[in-house]
Amino acid sequence: MAIGVKVMKRPEGETSYVRAALRGMRLTFKHMFQPKVTMQYPEERTTADARGPYAIAPRWRGTHRMMADEQGRSKCVACGLCPQICPANCIKLVPGEDEHGNRYPLIYEIDEFRCVFCGYCQEVCPEEAIHVGVHFENAEYGRDRFVYDLERLTSQTHPVSTLWDPADPKGE
Ligand code: SF4
Ligand code: SF4
Repeated sequence: MAIGVKVMKRPEGETSYVRAALRGMRLTFKHMFQPKVTMQYPEERTTADARGPYAIAPRWRGTHRMMADEQGRSKCVACGLCPQICPANCIKLVPGEDEHGNRYPLIYEIDEFRCVFCGYCQEVCPEEAIHVGVHFENAEYGRDRFVYDLERLTSQTHPVSTLWDPADPKGE
């Protein structure tokens, strides 16, 4: 993508700041008569499919979610790619193997408190198992509650993020 450069010229000679101040005041007064968009949270809440000023972008990267198969088992095959790529080193994976040689996670945990929500784990996962979600209401009273184990990750039901699409840079 080509980057446009705008060259700003410094004003020459005497400059009056009254005009700039009036322009700023005009903008302030204009906003006084526009509809307010402050959400009265938590009385008012948004949802993943909300539209308008409270909409959450579908590419929002929030609380993780592990996808499951028809039997309710995690789709993770314990390949180890997500803990390898995670820049915050907040994914703990202990792989296991069943009698048929199929790998699965014995332990899979994500520390949501350390996570920087980059979305790399979702991008790298070959099974489309782990996702960042269109969700943000994950406040807790203790730090230990931010460590999501496999069961908790799999029980999440919120929509998953579409991440950033170069063909749709504004997420529309
Ligand atoms: S979103 Fe990024 S920081 Fe968070 S667990 Fe995934 S790879 Fe790690
Ligand atoms: S990248 Fe996917 S399949 Fe591999 S360990 Fe992570 S969640 Fe499991």
